Amino acid sequence: MTTIATILKHKGHEVISVSPELTVSDVIHTLSERRIGAVLLQDGPKIGIVSERDIIHAFSAHGAATLQMKAREIMTRNVQTATPETSIRKAMEMMTEGRFRHIPVLDHGKLVGLVSIGDVVKARIMEQESEVDSLKAYVVGAA
Ligand code: AMP
Repeated sequence: MTTIATILKHKGHEVISVSPELTVSDVIHTLSERRIGAVLLQDGPKIGIVSERDIIHAFSAHGAATLQMKAREIMTRNVQTATPETSIRKAMEMMTEGRFRHIPVLDHGKLVGLVSIGDVVKARIMEQESEVDSLKAYVVGAA
């Protein structure tokens, strides 16, 4: 069973996080510069997340004033997390049910990575390809 640990082994453990006190304008620059869809925010011992989706919602509600708002004003506070032992299948389920595309990974409470829906789908396809290869080898061996 493939787990999130396998993804992190290939992808690395870097997590881009910013201060919740930064403005939305700063967050947009970070998202664009790093070519990512979401940033984490360290809010004391808790983590928040701001994704492109939150910025779109804020613009729809507040217009151009959004740019000067603080990241903490638009972040999602109730963040669902996984551990390195979480299966890829479970991570996909969380993303589908929760309608989000990012999951921070905590190992004994310590932030060790962030997986996106792209990482999870890629890992799932590789897992399925390897299952098909094993089955093919089995069928050929049995013939
Ligand atoms: P996303 O699809 O990741 O761009 O996020 C869609 C919405 O879900 C946004 O409001 C995000 O702040 C929120 N979100 C993203 N990741 C998570 C997560 N792991 N747990 C809870 N909410 C999240």
